[in-house]
Order: sequence, then structure tokens, then C-alpha cells
Amino acid sequence: MEPPEGLGDIRRTHLSSDMDPALDGEEVVVMGWVAAVRSHGNITFATIRDRTGPVQIVAKKGVCDDDLRTILTKAKPHSSVAVRGRASASARAPGGVEIIPNMLRVLSAASRTPPFEPATVTVPNIDTRLEVRCIDLRREPLRHMFGARTAVLRAVREYFYGNGFTEISTPKMIASATEGGSALFPIFYYDKEAFLAQSPQLYKEQLTMSFERVFEVSPIFRAEPSRTNRHLAEAISIDMEEAFVDYNDIMDRTAEVVRRAAGAVGEYAERNPGSKYDIPDTVDIPRYTYEELAGRIHDETDLHMEWGDDLHPSWLRRLGLDGMYFITDWPMGPKPFYVKTKQDDPRVSESFDLMWGDLELSSGSTRMNDRDGLERNMRNKGMKTASFAHHLEAFEYGMPPHAGCGIGLERLMMAMTGTGNIRDATFYPRDVDRLTP
Ligand code: ATP
Ligand code: MG
Repeated sequence: MEPPEGLGDIRRTHLSSDMDPALDGEEVVVMGWVAAVRSHGNITFATIRDRTGPVQIVAKKGVCDDDLRTILTKAKPHSSVAVRGRASASARAPGGVEIIPNMLRVLSAASRTPPFEPATVTVPNIDTRLEVRCIDLRREPLRHMFGARTAVLRAVREYFYGNGFTEISTPKMIASATEGGSALFPIFYYDKEAFLAQSPQLYKEQLTMSFERVFEVSPIFRAEPSRTNRHLAEAISIDMEEAFVDYNDIMDRTAEVVRRAAGAVGEYAERNPGSKYDIPDTVDIPRYTYEELAGRIHDETDLHMEWGDDLHPSWLRRLGLDGMYFITDWPMGPKPFYVKTKQDDPRVSESFDLMWGDLELSSGSTRMNDRDGLERNMRNKGMKTASFAHHLEAFEYGMPPHAGCGIGLERLMMAMTGTGNIRDATFYPRDVDRLTP
């Protein structure tokens, strides 16, 4: 393999999206990857793609240097190149201009051909794609997924910045488990055993003592045992936590975050006509209590359900629930130790899930802020309270009433874009079977 030519002093002056007939006659430098080369006798057409799309290069015998034409004609698709040349208005070319090259530099010649072309709309096997994810991510649906994701992250952050929230970063290497349920990944921490954090829960609660309103966008790690299209071993969570509010206030904030996300995806789709999304309605997000839905399952279906059971996705489908909705006031039993009991009904928690159809997007609750009650809950769940001494101590300094939630970013993006497999809402998915690339 030839060592790549250096970039040297040459720098890109224009993206393919900057191509405009008004550039006619100007000298431009474009860079990207060779998408296609076609020769017709004395004329060679090449399509170069950068992150914004294609640009056309036209090298004619007699107009362009012979050596340059030879190199262009032989350029292997996927090679990365720099082309300097004169822009020439042309109605047939993308952007209405083609480039008549006077310099061509092959920055890196491709020595392999990927198992599918980036232009392919559907590649049947997701594992084939994941094996060469850097090429796969050039495919249009994925470029739009991550373009929209960027827009969502910006809008969500702007919402929090505009509402007095401090952006926090909490440790991802932790000494003990914060929640039951999903399993932890153990790691070596010097000479001790530690774990990857399954959520920022305890830290974000403590930080309401210092900042009142906090949010974090960061990975959560869960050793999910099963293969599903909605679970990753490493996911990104948008967490928020706030002092002096309860779960109803957090539900309002969650609805607003989701509205901002939908707005951002809508604007993205308008700017990028290639992306077509059926964005869920976020204007009025209905709220149903667990009790109400359990009653409907009992009355409207032949399913056998006990009060206290989790609401299985297939049951929610049977009720015909679709779009976005909240399920509130879950039974206390399966809830983590930090979730608060409802004042007037000890069987019920001050909690909610935000759903999109049968997919859970977020869980939130009012938190326990009474130290002794918290310790009691830990004991009842069989947790070693000694491991949480620091956390319990924080509650002795006047822990205010507080509430919060975590929204799964990949699941939010699945809802916004109608994507069925969570793996395509993340760059490099991690699951039971996959740790590479
Ligand atoms: P589920 O019941 O769907 O497994 P959960 O109730 O265990 O989710 P929570 O602990 O409530 O999840 O986490 C809050 C949010 O984080 C979830 O609503 C979801 O959006 C997201 N999330 C949790 N686990 C995962 C995962 N393994 N992969 C992707 N997102 C996740
Ligand atoms: Mg949950």
C-alpha cells in the first residue's frame, strides 16, 4: 500500500453544499472521498463526496494535464482526495457547478472495498453494517439520525441552560450499586473491585444540595442479559434532578424536553429534505395512572394481571396505546429504594414513565428526602447500608424535597425518527454479543 500523500499546505475552500453557479470561474479546493469515476473517451467524470454531498469533477483531454487525468481515471472508489480547480457553471452537475481540476492529490488510496456501498438504502444484515460502522454511518438514514441527534442534544441543553440548570458530570466508576434490577459491570479499580455506573442517581440527588437544578448527559452501563432491540449495555441518559419540586413538576419538564426535541427534529427535517420523519405529537401528552391502565387490562382484555405487576409491552399494545403518554403512580414494590411513597396511599409511588407506544423513554419520581426512611427502604431491599454511609450522611444536612428523571437518548431518537432497532440510534452499539468495533 502506498503511503498516503500529505495534506501539506492545501486546505478546503468549499464544501459540496457551497457549490453554486455564482462560483463560475473561481478557483476552489474540495476534499472528500471518490464515489464514482466514469471515463468516456477523452473525458473523465468523477464524483467526490464530502459530509454534505456530492460534487462533480470533469477532466477533459487538452484542458487538464494528462497525468492528472490518468490518476483521476484510476482513482479507486473510497480513496480520499483533494481537488483544486476552476468552478464552471453546469446545469447537469449537483449544485449547478462542476470543477475543472488543475491539481489532484490522492490523500489516501482505498485498498479495500466495503461489503456494501454507502448509497445502499437497506443492507439486510445489521451485523454486516456494524462491522464497518465508519462506512455504514455515511449512509443517508444514519447521517440523518446523527444530524437529528445533534440537533436534539443542542435543543435539550438549551432548555436546561435557559432554566437555571447546572450541567454536571458524575463519576462513572463507583463503589456500589445504586439500583436493583439491571446488573452491573464489575471493573478493577487499583486493588479493589468497583463497578461502572448504571445511573448518576445518587450523585445527582446530592448535587441538588449545591445547585438545586442539575442535568447530565452521559453514559449509563447495564449488563442487560437479553438480546432486544431496545436495550444497550452502554446507553446515553439525559438525567435531570431538581430541588423543591415533585414528580408532577418533573413530568412537565420532561414533556417540555420532548417538545423541544421534536421541534429540533422538525427543523432538522426541514433543512434536510432527504430525511422524512413521522415525528410524534408532543403538544398534549396524556397521563394515565397505573391503576387506570390495570383496570382497562382487566376490563378490556382476557389477560391475567395482578395489581403490582409490571405493565408488559404486549399488554400496552393490546390496549391500543400509541404515541407519547405518561403512566403515573406505579406500585411501590418494584421501584428503587430512593422513590417516594404517595402520601395518601403507601402501596403507590410518586412516579412516572414516559412511553412511546410500548417503548419506555423515561422514568422519574419524587425522591425520598427523609434519611431514616431511605435507610429503611435500603434494608427492605436487602442492600448493605454501610456502603451508602456517605449518601445517607448527605441527607442529614437538610436534603430538600426533590424529584428527577432519566430519559434514554437513544430511545428518544428511536421515537423521533421511527427507528426500530436501538443499535441504529448509537454510533458503536454495545450489547451481549458485541464489544467491537
Ligand atoms: P426497561 O424497563 O425498558 O429495561 P428501565 O426501567 O430498566 O428500562 P430505567 O432504570 O428506568 O430503565 O432508566 C431510565 C431510562 O433510561 C429508560 O426509560 C430508558 O429510556 C433508558 N434506558 C435504561 N436502560 C437502558 C438500556 N439498557 N438501553 C438503552 N436505554 C436504556
Ligand atoms: Mg424505568
